[in-house]
Amino acid sequence: MPLGKLANCSRCDALFVQTVRDVCPKCYQEIEHEYEKCAKFLRKRENRGATIYQLSDATGVSVKQITRFIREGRISVLENPNLGYPCDNCGTMIQSGNYCNTCAKSLKRLIEQQLEVDKRLEEEHRSKDVVYRSRKEQDE
Ligand SMILES: [Zn+2]
Ligand SMILES: [Zn+2]
Repeated sequence: MPLGKLANCSRCDALFVQTVRDVCPKCYQEIEHEYEKCAKFLRKRENRGATIYQLSDATGVSVKQITRFIREGRISVLENPNLGYPCDNCGTMIQSGNYCNTCAKSLKRLIEQQLEVDKRLEEEHRSKDVVYRSRKEQDE
């Protein structure tokens, strides 16, 4: 079991000894407290249809933190069908992953294009390399 390393808390930036979490013990407690507030609010039947913004307003917990709870699966979108969080790229409400379907598709296309370019560059590079090497061999 590693002893951990010094790291900056991803929430308050304080230096702490990181073991399993990326937040310091103080923030960890605060996050747990915030989770309790969210869970308590969502336990009420009349709040089951709440959106992330309503939940954030009612509990004072940031949309960013609630997003984390949803991504971690701690807050269930199955039980709270109107809960979602904004797509990292365009802000459309989503319930899993980082991007909405549209953004995920165009991102995939961008990555594929980039891979194509990389492949072509690599091939050009390799063919030059071959020419260079064969010349060198002739010289020797
Ligand atoms: Zn912290
Ligand atoms: Zn999007």
